[in-house]
Amino acid sequence: MILTILGVPCYNVESSATKRALETIRTGTITEGAQLAKPRILFYDIETSLQPVAVFSLLHNDYIDPSSILSERYIISGSWKWEGEKEIHAVSVLDDAKRYRKNPHDDYHVVKTLHKLLSDADVIVGHNSDSFDKRWIETRALVHGFPALPPIASVDTFKVAKARLYLNSNKLDYIGRLLGVGRKIKTTSGLWLRVMNGDRQAVRDMVRYNKQDVALLERVYLKLRPYVANHINRALFGGGGCPRCGSTKIQSRGTHKAISKVYRRWQCRACSGWFKSTMAEPGTTQYRVL
Ligand SMILES: [Zn+2]
Repeated sequence: MILTILGVPCYNVESSATKRALETIRTGTITEGAQLAKPRILFYDIETSLQPVAVFSLLHNDYIDPSSILSERYIISGSWKWEGEKEIHAVSVLDDAKRYRKNPHDDYHVVKTLHKLLSDADVIVGHNSDSFDKRWIETRALVHGFPALPPIASVDTFKVAKARLYLNSNKLDYIGRLLGVGRKIKTTSGLWLRVMNGDRQAVRDMVRYNKQDVALLERVYLKLRPYVANHINRALFGGGGCPRCGSTKIQSRGTHKAISKVYRRWQCRACSGWFKSTMAEPGTTQYRVL
């Protein structure tokens, strides 16, 4: 059932995976080898319009006052894929034919779709998405009158690359090429202007480009996953094994020394990520330095 607040849809903020996991924990029915709930991990990316403004001259436009805005920028398309599923989906301004005929810049349907997807996810994965994609979606959702999104765990592969690695560039295309997992599709010149002028084929081309980015994003995520420190812990969904990827091929490898406790240290043989037990080893010191 979809509830409505002030006439706009209000989606259930607890994903079905979370509900299944909570039910498992509540009823205490975790059994070894059972099919356990998994987090819903959403890979996503959006394509946005240019900002149309009116200027007197092409020169000296370091700052353009908001009073020169001709029409608001908008989200042209969004693309996504759920972890564990093959299909890459997309939504664009073309998908609501009635609205598109009236105004090719009307992104209500795109925003509504993306708002629901993000509301349903346990984890969202994007490239530079904390600074760009998620803020764009929240902003356009606010403009259209949708309720605020719930807090959602996020993995931003741009942030991971920047914080943990020392790459020549942190762009998705560069990382994909360097790690041998693919590249972005090159866009044709003038594609954005054609989209904004109501060229349907240009929107379709944009969607193709958008979907390719999501495919590349997942492959880059899989390469960077061992470096994601704040990755959601799959054990919270009733799973055992590696907290990042869920594999049970884990190996005890030494100990992790915190300030006053010693923990068993583990490495996942599937994703190569490191983690530690939550319980300290017995016989841990009673003292710590000041
Ligand atoms: Zn793993």
